[in-house]
Amino acid sequence: FVFLDKLEPRIQMLSVQPDTKPKGCAGCNRKIKDRYLLKALDKYWHEDCLKCACCDCRLGEVGSTLYTKANLILCRRDYLRLFGVTGNCAACSKLIPAFEMVMRAKDNVYHLDCFACQLCNQRFCVGDKFFLKNNMILCQTDYEEGLMKEGYAPQVR
Ligand SMILES: [Zn+2]
Ligand SMILES: [Zn+2]
Ligand SMILES: [Zn+2]
Ligand SMILES: [Zn+2]
Repeated sequence: FVFLDKLEPRIQMLSVQPDTKPKGCAGCNRKIKDRYLLKALDKYWHEDCLKCACCDCRLGEVGSTLYTKANLILCRRDYLRLFGVTGNCAACSKLIPAFEMVMRAKDNVYHLDCFACQLCNQRFCVGDKFFLKNNMILCQTDYEEGLMKEGYAPQVR
């Protein structure tokens, strides 16, 4: 099965309208009575409460970008430090830059463009079945054909 890694970096700074009910902060659970609040991950935050879990820097000030992984909220620098190295594409063996969407299969990572059957170039969608054989990505058809040629396909009556 195919997994996609996706990042959602977006912080919005909103000014609070005086006539609206104060929003609760997702960090400290108190009401936000400041003039400005931050909106990120579909939640509202005090400017002081949206912080990097690693270095405590205020993310509202750091280029308005945040990164999440495994329920951690991180600044770009810490995200890169912890998760930035995605490694080399198992198909074309070129480096995959951090923050690019990748396909994962077992321990291998692939560029999105490289993740296709290596015999017939068929692309896979999320949820499609694919097979790994000798570290080659194969579609079901080519995988079964390969088994047949090698003569250990399951007996079909
Ligand atoms: Zn707060
Ligand atoms: Zn940080
Ligand atoms: Zn590649
Ligand atoms: Zn194929």
